[in-house]
Amino acid sequence: MAILLDGKKISSQIKEELKAKVEELKKEGSKVPHLSAILVGTDGASQTYVEAKVKDCQEIGFESSKLLFDDSISEAELLQEVDKLNNDERVDGFIVQLPLPKHINVDKVLNAIKPEKDVDGFHPMNYGRMATNLPAYIPATPFGVMELLKRYEIPTKGKHCVVVGRSRIVGSPVSILMGSDNYPGDATVTLTHRYTIDLAKYTKQADILIVAVGKPGLITADMVKNDVVVIDVGTTRVPDATKKSGFALKGDVLFDEVSKKATHITPVPGGVGPMTRAGLLMNTWLAAQKEIYGKELV
Ligand code: NAP
Repeated sequence: MAILLDGKKISSQIKEELKAKVEELKKEGSKVPHLSAILVGTDGASQTYVEAKVKDCQEIGFESSKLLFDDSISEAELLQEVDKLNNDERVDGFIVQLPLPKHINVDKVLNAIKPEKDVDGFHPMNYGRMATNLPAYIPATPFGVMELLKRYEIPTKGKHCVVVGRSRIVGSPVSILMGSDNYPGDATVTLTHRYTIDLAKYTKQADILIVAVGKPGLITADMVKNDVVVIDVGTTRVPDATKKSGFALKGDVLFDEVSKKATHITPVPGGVGPMTRAGLLMNTWLAAQKEIYGKELV
């Protein structure tokens, strides 16, 4: 049976480490990191995500603030709010929770965030810096995936890493990081997507398989080789009357059968999800410490 890559446990460790660092700052009388979140509209999932981010901050002693706007806010007004946070010295980093209402151009908003405060790592400046191996905010989910591999000391150099899904927030950055001259990294990477012909041909070659699609059960046992390391990013809500919430979270990988062939595998929930939350906190810490911008020429 595979070893569980326990994101819940590792994210708790990361939070404890950050909490200790915040306590040090407080003892010195220094400013503690401050994360701010912009939320537009009343989408239930988005509200839950923002609440979770605020709760994480409270737990470790970061300051946090929420800016809530009605979904009738215009693009120009939202850009003004972004600008206010860009210039607010109390705020080290901020995020704009997605999705945004259809009348707002997402790229315009994300590109208006000052790269120094872009702790989601979605600004092209951060993406470009990541791709060229310069210090950058790595988007929270890829950051969480890399940290999980690192903390379980999974060897990656020279391995064949197959990434399924090429989104801007998960699959593409993960493929760049796994192919970069770093640890985790130095892997030979194959990036697959919707138009890949015969997906199984590639997944069967994977030493490390990272799946970020959003299709429960896409990866079955016959699609992987023995001793594979599996990171399942997928989280799809499926109706489940036995749960209080009325739904269960399902990954893209058929856990019960694939875990019999894998050496390591993430559960869903409790794998990449908590690591994503930890990734945002780590980025906020880096922003407050000026670890990415400010300690070198940009
Ligand atoms: P996305 O933007 O919808 O991207 C999905 C990707 O999967 C696309 O690149 C798509 O290809 C590809 N794809 C679709 N069908 C495929 C198939 N049959 N074979 C191979 N590739 C296929 O989704 P996302 O934002 O990356 O999220 C992916 C999943 O991860 C979702 O379940 C999401 O909820 C979850 N997620 C979890 C976390 C977490 O913290 N745990 C964070 C982010 C996302 P094309 O590009 O060709 O369309």
